[in-house]
Amino acid sequence: MNAKDVNPATGPRILVIEDEPTIIEFLRTGLGYEGYQVTIAPDGRTGFDLAGHQSFDLIILDLMLPDMDGFDVCRKLRERGNETPIIMLTARQEVADRVTGLNLGADDYITKPFSFDELVARIRALLRRQGKHPEQSILSVGDMVLNAETHEVSRAGEPITLTPTEFALLELFMRHPRRVFTRETLLNRVWGYDYAGDANVVDVHISHLREKIRDKPPRLIQTIYGVGYALHPEDDA
Ligand code: CA
Repeated sequence: MNAKDVNPATGPRILVIEDEPTIIEFLRTGLGYEGYQVTIAPDGRTGFDLAGHQSFDLIILDLMLPDMDGFDVCRKLRERGNETPIIMLTARQEVADRVTGLNLGADDYITKPFSFDELVARIRALLRRQGKHPEQSILSVGDMVLNAETHEVSRAGEPITLTPTEFALLELFMRHPRRVFTRETLLNRVWGYDYAGDANVVDVHISHLREKIRDKPPRLIQTIYGVGYALHPEDDA
């Protein structure tokens, strides 16, 4: 990623309480890229203290943490009257954990492994409920319109049916016209940090997406040889 591609962080403030270095890096980079101001706390105690002393718009809280686990952090924050929205991350699949988290005052939970887009969708939904999300839900580029809330896409007024992966790719491109995304970035953003398959999967999905949106040359979604893909609005030519 080029430094110039990184938005100056002026967006909503997010506190990430997480001890796993891979996920910390994934969230720091990805959320920063989206314009969020990210603060990291590597253990429960630090996270709890930070949340008590600074104001955040949202907290992403891991469940299994050193010092104080996610359940305790959540319960104690709520006991103290801290109403910052909390998304709990859990590596466990058990329904019981989710129910416990929600009972303790978390607003939402997401199960690891998760894709970046899945998490961002939850963040947006929560911030929108608080009236804090500046992001648009209806995007349009040329004659293509995408509604991020209803998951509807149309081109020249004709509805287009996309798979969730194709939709996520198109939304990412439409939110960042002209930005070049490498296959690696797309894998991270759409498939998730733990995706271990072949990067060619990106090419396959882009090819399907182009077909569905009837993307004929000069294409909207352009191949940047040796680098990746970028969406170029038609009036760019
Ligand atoms: Ca953990």
